[in-house]
Amino acid sequence: MREASRYLACSSSKRVALKEGSEWRLWGLAIAVTLVLTFGIISVTIPGLRLPNDPTYSLTLKEWVRGLAALVLLFDIYMVYQHLRFERIRRELAERKQLFELITENAADMIAVINREGRRLYNSPAYGKILGYSAEELASTSSIEQIHPDDRARVLEASEKAYLTGRGERLEYRIRRKDGSWRVLESTSNPILGEKGNVEKLVIVNRDITERKRAEELLERHAFYDDLTDLPNRSLFVDRLQQAIARSHRRSDFRFAVLFIDIDEFKMFNDSLGQDAGDQILREVASRLKKGLSDHDMLCGIRANGSGRPSSGESTLARPGGDEFLMLVEDLRDASDSLRISEVIRERLAHPFEVKGNDIVVSASVGIALSAGAWTQATDVLRDAEIAMYRAKQTGKARCEVFDSAMHSDAIKRLQLESDLRRALQQDEFRVYYQPIVSLENSQIIGFEALSRWQRPYGIVMPGEFIKAADESGIILELNRRLLKDACKQLQHWNQQFQAGRPFVISVNITAKQFTQPDLAHQIAEILNQTRTDPSCIHLEITENVTMADPERSATVLSQLKALGVRLSIDDFGTGYSSLCRLQKFPVDVMKIDQTFVSEMDRDPETHEIVRIIVMLAKNLGMEVVAEGIERPDQVAMLRQMGCQLGQGYLFSKPVDAASSELLLRSQYPVAGVGDVALAAAASCSLG
Ligand code: C2E
Ligand code: MG
Ligand code: MG
Repeated sequence: MREASRYLACSSSKRVALKEGSEWRLWGLAIAVTLVLTFGIISVTIPGLRLPNDPTYSLTLKEWVRGLAALVLLFDIYMVYQHLRFERIRRELAERKQLFELITENAADMIAVINREGRRLYNSPAYGKILGYSAEELASTSSIEQIHPDDRARVLEASEKAYLTGRGERLEYRIRRKDGSWRVLESTSNPILGEKGNVEKLVIVNRDITERKRAEELLERHAFYDDLTDLPNRSLFVDRLQQAIARSHRRSDFRFAVLFIDIDEFKMFNDSLGQDAGDQILREVASRLKKGLSDHDMLCGIRANGSGRPSSGESTLARPGGDEFLMLVEDLRDASDSLRISEVIRERLAHPFEVKGNDIVVSASVGIALSAGAWTQATDVLRDAEIAMYRAKQTGKARCEVFDSAMHSDAIKRLQLESDLRRALQQDEFRVYYQPIVSLENSQIIGFEALSRWQRPYGIVMPGEFIKAADESGIILELNRRLLKDACKQLQHWNQQFQAGRPFVISVNITAKQFTQPDLAHQIAEILNQTRTDPSCIHLEITENVTMADPERSATVLSQLKALGVRLSIDDFGTGYSSLCRLQKFPVDVMKIDQTFVSEMDRDPETHEIVRIIVMLAKNLGMEVVAEGIERPDQVAMLRQMGCQLGQGYLFSKPVDAASSELLLRSQYPVAGVGDVALAAAASCSLG
């Protein structure tokens, strides 16, 4: 500690030492002068000592003596004053020293005094506590030796600078603990000046910021990496992609591709096996993609292939969230490389893996955006890769699509359509049209299929142009809720108005999106209750493709719907790949033969045979059969021969609005009296 105060209070102690030296000289002088004068006074005042007889001489001597005595007195007073001043400085110094001792000994920061050679002349006890070395060990090693090799040059440079300029700067570096681990220090240095004003030593104050650094790193990791898979997140990916775009602008031979990878049916895995299993699947996919990305054969092989030069390109795999992954592959040879990568991804994912005792096989839809596009913004590349991915999903999943500009304009059109559909809902632009379903025996209308039409300022838009977009965007849910409500009210009205002997039925279509709604049955029940509709008069049409997409789930949903008392139809039968065995197990009442068969049956014997088999099959399963798309009388004759009782088609009527439908009914049925209404209500609502 004495060392410390000596060095740290160096400049002031030097000042004091100088003063102390002059003080001793002054004291010496004072004593000498006092002695001489005392001797003089004594010699002139000792009795018997003879002085010259000159009276003026004797007087001058006395005055001299008095004067000198006064001088000595003043001098002594001055000396006492100086002494007191030095005493005060000494006391202050002692206090400072004590304060310094207190600060350095107890400071959490490590304080050291080092000389030009980097040797520590003093180090505070915090050194021992933080780094684990004893005071001797610290004293015997150069401070530079303990600094991380990668940081040494920087530290030396900063210390050189401090010696040269007399100004130290803030520095961060790593230092080795005795146990070999590393601590991060934040250091500031202050110079100690020598007598000539040159920097002799440096006082270094080191703060241990290891924990703060760790926290900062964690925060940074959290900001740029995905917790579940440890892959870069969207922000980091966008950053790297932006750099790749900049490089592609600088180097004409630099090509990159972004692959937007989306796991097919992930929601189904997540819903059925639980979120834990979902997470496990995501981790497994991430690890397979990661392995794929680091695979030499896959990337370098592809890059070097043909071009004859191995690539130094970087590649990044990221998880922006959900079941999506992004891959940035740099330095591609040509566009086909990205397709090969996508193929490798597909192969890698194809191997089953076990999750919660289930063998899982995942597939992915991949959208590719290639650097050939004139992009400047990373987000634009991602948008286009995503559009391509959606195209891959729409065209059958487990596929790969490369973005082209047509896709972009399609996507823009699609966005416009969705926004128009939302506005149309708000402004009530949708109308319900009704197409009669007739008995093929006598062409009598037994019910209607309710179909949507979009009344736009320039004319009517057909469902083929908007139902798919409405379904995928979820707009269909509200659209069909309104349609069902309107249709139920219309049905009540017709059943009351016409004397048909039995109530009419109304068919409404259920789309894929609606079918996946967990509360579909509840929603329908609510509308039936509100409109006081007999459930058996309502037929829900679900296409064969929707029911067969997930047969297990379909069986459950169909049973829930059936429990409401409504009747169920399989729409567009023949267009999908129905498992007849499954079909038998579904609680379905009606089979609607798709119009593509009906339209061909009178021209193509093979199609004729298919329709005959479908009718026979439906009858065997106890279902009613409706033939869709009847346009010619020949078709009616054939269908009747086959035993098909019901039909729908332009031959009878196109879908028309409620007023025109009512005219059709009027042409066939008498308007009911009060008693007939009750009779009609009591009758069953089945089709046949
Ligand atoms: P779908 O359920 O199979 O409806 C029958 C479609 O066949 C209707 O087309 C109808 O106009 C048409 N059609 C009927 N007879 C003939 C015929 O003789 N010749 C020809 N060429 N076509 C005939 P639309 O109204 O254009 O509806 C097409 C599809 O859109 C419907 O097929 C249905 O799946 C869906 N859709 C229509 N409206 C709605 C709705 O409000 N909600 C839902 N979920 N789907 C709807
Ligand atoms: Mg239908
Ligand atoms: Mg149909």
